[in-house]
Amino acid sequence: METIAVLTSGGDAPGMNAAIRAVVRTAGYHRLSVLGVMRGFHGLIHDEFIELNPRSVADIIHRGGTILKSARSEEFRTTEGQAKAVENLRRAGVEGLVVIGGDGSFRGAMRLQEAGINIVGIPATIDNDIPCTDFSIGFDTTVNTVVEVINKIRDTATSHERIYVVEVMGRHSGYIAMYAGLAGGAETVLIPEVDDSLDEVCERLISGYRLGKAHSIVLVAEGVGGNFKAGRSLNESSAFHVADYVREKTGFETRVTVLGHIQRGGNPTANDRILASRLGARAVEMLMEGRGGCMVGVVHTEIKATPLEEVFKQEKALDLGFHQLAHILASQ
Ligand code: ATP
Repeated sequence: METIAVLTSGGDAPGMNAAIRAVVRTAGYHRLSVLGVMRGFHGLIHDEFIELNPRSVADIIHRGGTILKSARSEEFRTTEGQAKAVENLRRAGVEGLVVIGGDGSFRGAMRLQEAGINIVGIPATIDNDIPCTDFSIGFDTTVNTVVEVINKIRDTATSHERIYVVEVMGRHSGYIAMYAGLAGGAETVLIPEVDDSLDEVCERLISGYRLGKAHSIVLVAEGVGGNFKAGRSLNESSAFHVADYVREKTGFETRVTVLGHIQRGGNPTANDRILASRLGARAVEMLMEGRGGCMVGVVHTEIKATPLEEVFKQEKALDLGFHQLAHILASQ
């Protein structure tokens, strides 16, 4: 094998650059050439290849986002789009492709595998919703960003007797809320996987007040909106819904902070850079061994490869013990 390619696809995640660097430098170490594909599958179809060498990935290990840009491509979902992508890859002499992204990107990558191009997926998504890996690149950085915000909200919260409702990303997955809630000492964490009753939330807040808590932080994953049955629009921000409900029910003053895209940005944490470096290196080794159609992930600190077909069959399990622990520690 002489040439491999790498692309980033789907939502960007801090640490993608560290993964690109690891792919390029591991390939360089083994004397392979690397092409970078700009804008994910869109760039594959439109022949947006650039040459990468160990120097082109200097000074990116600490940067958020992705130097290769990311995109979503409707065209790639069509057989014509996929055929064009395969044609371009073959013409460029690419014998193996590393796809850094989420579940959707891996489903797209499987179409290339079926066409005979070995692909290896690297899980990178802040939601941490990909099975067969304990963590995805970007998740740790996002949790740290949310915790930093909670710390700041606590500073102002200590000056006022209020309920602070903070909304974080996670349309289908409560991972960010659960980890950040435990690390940030939130009084209540609402996640899509648990159908919490808002009346119970109010009771918890009232009992905290009786225990002498001057303020409380309620962390809400954006996806919990689907759990509410109070007849409001599901598109309405989950946090505003919770804040209104709590105010009406308890009489406590509430304040809302919706974090939005700041959760995607920032310098990757050391954990994300280490994970990205290990997965990037292993992905290249896998291609050199002639193994494709797999995703590399971390399972109990070991780097493991799993066939993508297996990944697609599974659901990422959430350890609800974390959620319970956050509530136990906040209840005292
Ligand atoms: P994130 O978790 O951040 O959303 P993702 O990788 O899951 O990342 P998607 O938008 O789901 O992001 O997928 C990225 C791209 O992968 C899509 O724009 C599309 O081009 C391609 N893709 C997704 N699913 C398929 C599929 N079933 N067949 C072909 N291509 C697909």
